Amino acid sequence: MEDIALQHPPTVLCISGHDPSGGAGLHADIEACQAFRAHALGALTALTIQDTRNVYDVRALDADWFEAQLQRLDADCRIDAVKFGVLGSTAQVQIAAKWLRHWSVPVVLDPVLQAGGGAELAAQPVARAMLELLLPLATVVTPNAAEARLLTGERELGAAASALGAMGADHALVTGGDEPGTGDRTDWHWHAGTLRTLTRGRWDQSYHGAGCTLASGIAALLAHGVPVDQAIERASDQVHQWLRTPKAIGGGRPSPLRWVETEA
Ligand code: PLP
Repeated sequence: MEDIALQHPPTVLCISGHDPSGGAGLHADIEACQAFRAHALGALTALTIQDTRNVYDVRALDADWFEAQLQRLDADCRIDAVKFGVLGSTAQVQIAAKWLRHWSVPVVLDPVLQAGGGAELAAQPVARAMLELLLPLATVVTPNAAEARLLTGERELGAAASALGAMGADHALVTGGDEPGTGDRTDWHWHAGTLRTLTRGRWDQSYHGAGCTLASGIAALLAHGVPVDQAIERASDQVHQWLRTPKAIGGGRPSPLRWVETEA
């Protein structure tokens, strides 16, 4: 008999939609968590018809199916952090908020509203419920520029980050990677009344699944117990590196190459 050494990696419960192309959604979450040496638990919210160019249809899971997944995981597994992606209905948001109060762990809320290809991923009532019920429970909220503007009505990204903080997020990180222009890209990080910028070089490319990857990376580091400021910086540095060598899976936008370092 050989000895085995059971491992207990930190876990991130990823509450996310399914992207059949594997670039975004739960696939992206699993790969990002794995790369940061955390285990991704996955509770599905919605199925999509999607490729690397756009989303063509979204079907939310029934609220009772959604909650049954959370119940089973709660009864069986340790949950060290929670990461939200697509939410399919206001009922799912209400259920998720109830369980968050029960778990009391770090929460990363990626308020996915629209696919990069333009399709709507969350209807207005779902977005409103997210703001009202999940944002006040979020350790970090990570909208891209378009989502931050839609959620706050602020045009300027620093003002949008501050507004999300005022609405109840502990940390707000508004990413500026999709903003037009040729200069450096700037992300805005608000916490406790202070705004700072994270500036990095720009790649001449738009991506599929970069937001899911960043949010999951932050959640994985929080699950390890890394302080929030550092988790944001480290995940954002890593995603920036992954975007340098993206994987082209189809004819649309490429996705971050979230390799773990094992030889093929
Ligand atoms: N599909 C799912 C299930 C997602 O979670 C997301 C983003 O979070 C998307 C599609 C859209 O990804 P992108 O805007 O990067 O194309």
